[in-house]
Amino acid sequence: MVQLILLLHTEEGNFIRIKELLGRQLKKSGKTIFNISQESLATFREQFHNHFQKEFLIRQSHQMKRNFISGIRRISFKSPQTMFCAGLIITCTLVGAVFIKGPANTGNLNVNTAFADGNACALTVNDKILAIMASPGEVDQVLAKYLNTKTQPSEENLVKSAAFVDRIDKISITAQPEEIKSADEVLSLLTQGNEIVTNYTIKENDSLWLIARNNDMLTKEVLSANSSLTEDSTLQPGQVIKLAKTLPYISIKFEGEKTVAQVVPFDVQSTIDRTLNAGATVIKQEGKDGSKTVTYSYAQTNDKITEKKVIKEEITAQPVKQIVAMGPSRVAIATIAYEASRGSGSASGLSSPLQGPINSYYGYRWGGFHNGVDIGGDTGQPYAAAASGKVISAGWSGGYGYMILIDHGDGVETRYAHSSKLAVSAGQSVKKGQVIGYVGRTGNATGPHLHFEVIINGGTVNPLKYI
Ligand SMILES: [Zn+2]
Repeated sequence: MVQLILLLHTEEGNFIRIKELLGRQLKKSGKTIFNISQESLATFREQFHNHFQKEFLIRQSHQMKRNFISGIRRISFKSPQTMFCAGLIITCTLVGAVFIKGPANTGNLNVNTAFADGNACALTVNDKILAIMASPGEVDQVLAKYLNTKTQPSEENLVKSAAFVDRIDKISITAQPEEIKSADEVLSLLTQGNEIVTNYTIKENDSLWLIARNNDMLTKEVLSANSSLTEDSTLQPGQVIKLAKTLPYISIKFEGEKTVAQVVPFDVQSTIDRTLNAGATVIKQEGKDGSKTVTYSYAQTNDKITEKKVIKEEITAQPVKQIVAMGPSRVAIATIAYEASRGSGSASGLSSPLQGPINSYYGYRWGGFHNGVDIGGDTGQPYAAAASGKVISAGWSGGYGYMILIDHGDGVETRYAHSSKLAVSAGQSVKKGQVIGYVGRTGNATGPHLHFEVIINGGTVNPLKYI
């Protein structure tokens, strides 16, 4: 056991003075053991200043404790030069001392070579030791390699910059040979990521889909950690399941440009044909999806795109509009249903978010299943929440463009896509009829419209049955 003094200081000049100050009071015994006398400690305590009683110290001490430390005493003091210091006297299996810059300038750890005569280098991420390696050079190599494997540029993905988001430091320490990891070991540790398993207690009306969504996961990810569950399992309130998430040890932010091929969904134009029977529909012209290549600039943290801006769009094949002729009463029925739901508060409690023509219905159409209805509107036209609820997400969401998802409780959710602008943010409560966004054509949309979905217990249903 040795004692190690971990000092937090504010600036380089002060550091020298602390060293002088402590130099007189510290007696080096043996090679690397520092002692601080009880008297001087008492003086320090007397001048205790809470200036540095910050999370930083506490966090640092917890982490180190887990790895190496058997005892910690915290000290803070004000030096005669009127600067504030805080430190830790740590009894541990380490040899050497580490001097760390304070929260005022958290840029880099300042490893003082005079004190830190360790034989190894600790790689720390946000002040937590991730691995111990032989040398700082080896740490640098592994980090560079890791960044490189994550950011392979290609013709489709032009990575312009990549940088670690987390604070990374290298600290000189003394470690036992068996504690030192090889470059390959650390690289595979970084590549595999950190699997965090938590317990989740099933609530009333929970579904796998809801649990997945609330935890930023996919249903299949929830299932993979629970071998006893299948998609059809009945969940009992109070039942405990596992949620396993793999997070990177070090977050990376990328910026670049991507070029992707996208489908241009065809529009549906409905005309009223009074020669047709009530409710009958006849497809006059079969619609056909077009295609386009889209180049966008992006910012991405790990797997999540945080910013996206289309910089070039080229139509490679024009879509063909689907023309549907409808018998007259179909519209009347829809109108009556709509009025009824508004007047009496239908069973669903949902109302139409936007008044406008239905350009595309729910169901199969060429190229796939359309899981909502497209309500025609002009860019910038406001649309409203179909019912009161809580905004689960509001922001960019791939093909949906700017999208809002609202939870209305009882397993009912509604989604609003392709907006030009959003008027709400995630976590916000909204009232039925409140303006939540503005019609646009962001994401996969040929013209301005509102794509509106009704989701019940995790699956989409035909919205026209509910509004
Ligand atoms: Zn749509």
